[in-house]
Amino acid sequence: MSKAHFGLIGLGVMGENLVLNAESKGFSSVVYNRTYSKTESFLKGRGLGRDISGAIDLQDFVNRLERPRRILMMIKAGSATDAVIDQISPFLEEGDLLIDGGNSEFRDTERRVKKLESQSFGYIGMGVSGGAKGALEGPSMMPGGTKASYEAIESLLKKMAAQVEDGPCVTYIGPGGSGHFVKTVHNGIEYGIEQILSEAYDLMRRIGGMTGSEMADVLGHWNKTEELSSYLVEITEICMRTKDTDGGDIIEKIMDKAGQKGTGLWTVLSALELGASVPTIYASLNGRVLSSLKEERLFAESILKGPSIKTFDIGDPSEGMIPLMDAVIVSTIVCYAQGMELMRIASNEYNYSLNMPSIAQIWKGGCIIRSRLLKRIQEAFSADPQLPNLVIDPWFADQVNKRLSNLANVVAGAAQAGVPVPCLSSSLDYINSYRTGRLPQNLVQAMRDCFGSHTYQRVDKEGVFHTDWID
Ligand code: NAP
Repeated sequence: MSKAHFGLIGLGVMGENLVLNAESKGFSSVVYNRTYSKTESFLKGRGLGRDISGAIDLQDFVNRLERPRRILMMIKAGSATDAVIDQISPFLEEGDLLIDGGNSEFRDTERRVKKLESQSFGYIGMGVSGGAKGALEGPSMMPGGTKASYEAIESLLKKMAAQVEDGPCVTYIGPGGSGHFVKTVHNGIEYGIEQILSEAYDLMRRIGGMTGSEMADVLGHWNKTEELSSYLVEITEICMRTKDTDGGDIIEKIMDKAGQKGTGLWTVLSALELGASVPTIYASLNGRVLSSLKEERLFAESILKGPSIKTFDIGDPSEGMIPLMDAVIVSTIVCYAQGMELMRIASNEYNYSLNMPSIAQIWKGGCIIRSRLLKRIQEAFSADPQLPNLVIDPWFADQVNKRLSNLANVVAGAAQAGVPVPCLSSSLDYINSYRTGRLPQNLVQAMRDCFGSHTYQRVDKEGVFHTDWID
């Protein structure tokens, strides 16, 4: 029996679709899953008639692969990944390549790379985005590790990846855990945009009194614009338009408690550690945390009286609700800006040498945050690879300048109406802080010096100063 080109461990939603993708590109495959019955039902189902065989155990799996072996793990992140690495390592030989395509914490990947580098096989930590459909039709992939290991898998990944006008949505990200770090930030941006769109929905529903179909029409309009055309706006329109079996809007039947698997939290923790400011992403994480307190919120609703809902101008649906659309555009730009900024800072701190235009390029297709804005982001960082913040690139600055007052109006109106808009308001505060040459942190410094003699710098002369403050 001829040996397979490609091996896949983990027949979850992602693994199943990725192996079908690889096989469809001409890579005969072998699959292994901890629970063998899943392997059997896959081979009798979607895997039937394809050049895919199933292995009973890891020894059998490794034996069925041609050398050097190319193995992708798509399993639960954390201890499960460590367990599988430990189980398969004894069977791997010089030149073999093991890829972790799960959502691993980038520090886990750093640790594994260090440990496995002393062995003879290669190891890649690769972020994969695109969900089930992306995995099947072409995801965006973010591989990190040694360049030599990447080159050993490059041709396979380029064929499997989503394709956009300037190439496949995969590139070498950098050393160590950089691939998983970039995927983590991708997910942080994803959290932010999902929350921004959810806040827009809440305003359309509560302030605009709109039905699902009416909201879907507005989202359909937004999705035709250069600034908002994106996968997330596209699926938001679908979510708004979809009806339940009784003909009502299904969205209104869904429990308002959002789940999370950790990548948003890791983005925020990394940002805090690195001193990167990501308040829009942080607000989206807090939004999910507060949403999970359903019972408490229902109780508090009867005690805490906000302002009675006042209506305000969020725009005319037949014109695409311009004030609300502007608020969403600026907040979305700010969300991408914060993610890019976090990656720039992390790249310096961890010596990842991240190529920002390339990262924007591979996010243009296949992944959850794909959007037309990413072409502009790619251009902005190509024009200035050291761009300190996306919002000062001329095209983005123009967008912010012409739409900021509408964001301010929407946030002010929402505040007066008692409708929470944590991401919209964080984005507004972020821009207002970033564009303010003199912030009030001189007072923070004064207080710190007053109570703790922490000293301060002055605006009018060099040096470090302390004042004997009056008691
Ligand atoms: P999943 O539900 O996260 O993981 C299921 C797979 O992990 C199954 O094959 C399961 O085997 C295996 N597994 C769990 N614990 C194991 C252990 N201790 N030892 C060996 N195998 C173990 O599936 P998924 O949604 O396809 O995700 C796979 C990975 O991709 C995850 O890291 C996920 O975070 C990441 N990811 C998911 C998406 C998505 O949209 N779902 C997108 C990007 C990345 P059994 O069948 O035996 O339980």
